[in-house]
Amino acid sequence: VIEPRIIPRDQVTGALVRPRATDPRRTCRATIDLDGRTYRCGRETRSTDRLHDGIHDAYAEHGDGGAVRW
Ligand SMILES: [Zn+2]
Repeated sequence: VIEPRIIPRDQVTGALVRPRATDPRRTCRATIDLDGRTYRCGRETRSTDRLHDGIHDAYAEHGDGGAVRW
């Protein structure tokens, strides 16, 4: 079980900042459900295996100022 990690947006700095995918075909397909809402990861994947390193990032907040990352 992967627990969601809600990180305050102002703490998402430095190495935590990852580029968001600009090509839908390269966008990660992982999703997470939080309190009845579904978030989709927006990170860019490698063209070779369609995966990315590190954690998923929805580039969204969950109503409490937290960044939805898991
Ligand atoms: Zn992802």
